[in-house]
Amino acid sequence: MASEADPLIKVGGLGDVAGSLPRALRAVNASANLLPSELDVRLVIPFHPAIHKDRFPIQQITEYKVHSIDSDILVKVFSLEMEGVPIYLIGGEPIEKESGVYSSNLEADGYKYVYFSQAALNLVKKIDWKPDILHANDWHTSPAIYSLALNRPIDPFFKQAASVLTVHNLPYLGAMTGPALRAFELPPVDNTSLPAWAGDMALPLGLLTADIIVAVSPGYAKEIMTVEFGSGLQTFLRAHSDKITGILNGLDTSKWNPATDAELASNFTPTNLEARIANKAFLQNELGMEIKPSIPLLAMVTRMDPQKGVDLAVDSVRILLQSDSLSASPIQVVFLGTGDPLLEQAACRLELDYPKYVCTRITYNERLSRHIYAGADMLLMPSRYEPCGLSQMIAMHYGCLPIARATGGLSDTIQDQKDSSQNTGFLFKPATSNALAESILRALWIYTDNPKVWHAMQIQAMQQDFSWDRSAVEYLRQYKILLDKRKDRDEIRKYV
Ligand code: ADP
Repeated sequence: MASEADPLIKVGGLGDVAGSLPRALRAVNASANLLPSELDVRLVIPFHPAIHKDRFPIQQITEYKVHSIDSDILVKVFSLEMEGVPIYLIGGEPIEKESGVYSSNLEADGYKYVYFSQAALNLVKKIDWKPDILHANDWHTSPAIYSLALNRPIDPFFKQAASVLTVHNLPYLGAMTGPALRAFELPPVDNTSLPAWAGDMALPLGLLTADIIVAVSPGYAKEIMTVEFGSGLQTFLRAHSDKITGILNGLDTSKWNPATDAELASNFTPTNLEARIANKAFLQNELGMEIKPSIPLLAMVTRMDPQKGVDLAVDSVRILLQSDSLSASPIQVVFLGTGDPLLEQAACRLELDYPKYVCTRITYNERLSRHIYAGADMLLMPSRYEPCGLSQMIAMHYGCLPIARATGGLSDTIQDQKDSSQNTGFLFKPATSNALAESILRALWIYTDNPKVWHAMQIQAMQQDFSWDRSAVEYLRQYKILLDKRKDRDEIRKYV
């Protein structure tokens, strides 16, 4: 279960993951046979109004009612199959009336997703498809985990089902979900290991009742148990560390491959990197910037959210453009993103102040993002925290080196050791614009003065294995642990 899934609907990395993991799980299990039988993975997402009905062969398959204390709500379920994975789209009034995938009205968002969670759990009963594992993601689908835990002891249909909750972004707790949880008869808890304030919030309830918690990188799995990154749940999470693990998200390399990407002006591989230059010229032209391969081109492709450090990137570029250090050799910078109006304005302001060097595009545009990954030299990712991060993986795969904060999944995926020939990018620690500016200067120095080292780093970055294969095996191992535990329980029952 997820709130978004590419290519039906995508806001960020969660959409990439929900779109590609089900297929990867099936494929990997078919070849590695980790689980005893064929894996039947199905995906459930909301039927957001923004999903283009005419672009996909979507058909209604059933309808039923979900109970809330105010009234029963009619759920309409649609389905389609994509590359062998059945996908269910849950419709109904609470989803149809919200235009976006997420809303800034937290209470309305809470209602929509608690409804979605309950409707999805009811769906598997309605179609009589008994899942062994319910795999939910983030706060939006956590109520289903909690609901499953409440139902397991009393409903034989769910008796055998185990649950996995993947945490892509801990601070989004579903803070205003309390009223909606009560409306759908999911009562608050007290006297548990959760802090009292968290007893009626979607994500904490999911964390409390999930059989296994997966953070989206090993680094983030450790970080969420600290005061700095734990969102107030660190003590609770430390107490449950035995059910927490970290699995890096994978990259769908069939979708993100510079050798075959049909959007690019010129395809390339690590062995013919010279072909990459045409993409830079194409991008410079598309952005209306001076077309010159020697000018370092820096980029940011991101949700404009304080988490992503867009303010740090804007300030550091300003510092560099104001300073003497760049006067001889300028830089070009492109910002692509939408989100927080203040951050959007800051990036637009920078373009107004430095129109020759800065281009800001306030939009969501996958085609342009591909041109950027293939044509830019450096990707800025000064995230204040980064559970995993896909943009840096895509960038590396396309030979664009990341300049990123040493945190979470960024530290796990980017190599930056002193005097190492294995480096794939540039990491810095303090969340300040000065620290980022210094890192950019370090990268620029290698780019302009040591092209051979730069070239070697690009090849190293492109050759990293970010494919789903490795991560899907890790998920299958977790599923197997849950299935084996169930087998053990059944064995015990037989003899007692
Ligand atoms: P998050 O999930 O926190 O947003 P990730 O780095 O995990 O960050 O994933 C971001 C994904 O969304 C990447 O695939 C990135 O290319 C894409 N993306 C973000 N903003 C835009 C945009 N404005 N236009 C196109 N793609 C975008």
